[in-house]
Amino acid sequence: MDTQNLVARLNSSGLLRSQCLIGGKWTEAYDGKTIPVHNPATGDVLVNVPCMGGQETNDAISVAYEAFLSWSKLTAAERSKRLRKWYDLLMANKEELGQIITLEQGKPLKEAIGEVNYGAAFIEFSAEEAKRIYGDIIPSPLADRRLLVLKQPVGVVGAITPWNFPLAMITRKVGPALACGCTVVIKPSELTPLTALAAAELALQAGIPPGAVNVVFGNAPEIGDALLASRQVRKITFTGSTAVGKKLMAGAAQTVKKVSLELGGNAPCIIFDDADLEVAVRGALGTKFRNSGQTCVCANRILVQEGIYEKFAIAFSQAVQSMQVGEGFTEGVVQGPLINEAAVQKVESFVKDAVSKGAKVLLGGKRHSLGMTFYEPTVIGDIKNEMLIARNEVFGPVAPLLRFKTEEEAIRIANDTDAGLAAYVFTENVQRMWRVSEALEYGLVGVNEGLVSTEVAPFGGVKESGLGREGSKYGMDEFLEMKYVCLGNMSSS
Ligand code: NAP
Repeated sequence: MDTQNLVARLNSSGLLRSQCLIGGKWTEAYDGKTIPVHNPATGDVLVNVPCMGGQETNDAISVAYEAFLSWSKLTAAERSKRLRKWYDLLMANKEELGQIITLEQGKPLKEAIGEVNYGAAFIEFSAEEAKRIYGDIIPSPLADRRLLVLKQPVGVVGAITPWNFPLAMITRKVGPALACGCTVVIKPSELTPLTALAAAELALQAGIPPGAVNVVFGNAPEIGDALLASRQVRKITFTGSTAVGKKLMAGAAQTVKKVSLELGGNAPCIIFDDADLEVAVRGALGTKFRNSGQTCVCANRILVQEGIYEKFAIAFSQAVQSMQVGEGFTEGVVQGPLINEAAVQKVESFVKDAVSKGAKVLLGGKRHSLGMTFYEPTVIGDIKNEMLIARNEVFGPVAPLLRFKTEEEAIRIANDTDAGLAAYVFTENVQRMWRVSEALEYGLVGVNEGLVSTEVAPFGGVKESGLGREGSKYGMDEFLEMKYVCLGNMSSS
């Protein structure tokens, strides 16, 4: 793939934006500072983008506040129409959006286009759900009163998102926010800002008014502090690491903002002796190696019961070995590069720690011969739950296998973590499906299925994996306030 050619083509299509968006205007950093955006597969600089900070963020908040005053007054039907138009434009441009994702994030093009379908679905769902934000009427205990509950938008939302799903993590927040009548200041990762800018360009084309969607990035702590300090920002919605999430939660206390956090996971994937081996291998492969292991719901620990351990390890390793690694634009590639050098070094240190404590590399276990940030799809056996790799997200293409004996032991190991985002269970026993699903301290459980995310179901974690839910009808509540109205003196006589 000739990257420069592709960049030029995307540029002429108007989708490859290299300025931030404030109040409907494409804007440089006020001091002219820029940062490069790299292609992780090649190291090439794709474009330079503004490096913004507190001042630009404050301006974005002001215009978002102005826009809120009118956007929140539109009828739900009108907001719905514009969201639907945005969805149509995202779908009409899915090839180009997929290309931008592959260029800046590295995931294979087919997977990137899959992200566009998934990400756009949140806008479509929000367009539909905008019309169903119902209030309530409560039977009054007093004859002369009428008691009502109104649902109203929280106000301006600060939406901070990570690099691993440059589109979907934004649409999952911005869709419901706009549907409810809120306006947003988006802070995408500086590693993958181009997808966010392309999506914002399409939002403008869809008739989402200037100021309703703003995009700033650059100096993350400065931008975060400005969002936290502002009294006009009434909600912070964040997806990213638990460490940054905790900082934002503490900072939001200054002005008592509503907070939703989608943080890191440490997903157990439990394979019982009575699992269908083929289903378990396919499911574990799907959840472990999606986006080269760089998702919050990736299986981080594969717990395998002793009766099926050897058979599973062999079949799984064979499946992993068949995965093609390479640049995301190459036909047949299913594993791209890791996002940056720091990510590879983290993977290396976890593998080294495991091996030094007795784990055995069954496949891979080192950097890929392609160089850059490519790492070999790896399977490691004899992992113990005390090893670094079982305590923290590896966020890379390494599958650690842990052996267990009983169902009780598997549940104890699975729950022995501060994280609680996703868990997976593979078994053919119906009673066990229920028992184990109920016992797992996680926000999402996949039973005989490794890919569970969808716009129609609530996504989110418990414990230190976060607060609140995204997607589904439940995700709307995160952007709404409830107002109780008591009408007095209502007697008919
Ligand atoms: P991260 O380092 O926490 O960054 C996430 C976002 O926060 C980025 O936009 C980052 O900006 C920004 N940020 C960093 N420091 C900040 C500060 N002091 N104030 C305000 N913003 C700040 O996480 P990441 O490495 O990008 O993403 C990987 C993590 O996200 C993993 O832990 C993964 O599990 C989690 N994740 C969770 C979910 C979920 O739904 N639960 C989904 C996807 C990912 P810069 O990038 O510009 O520094």
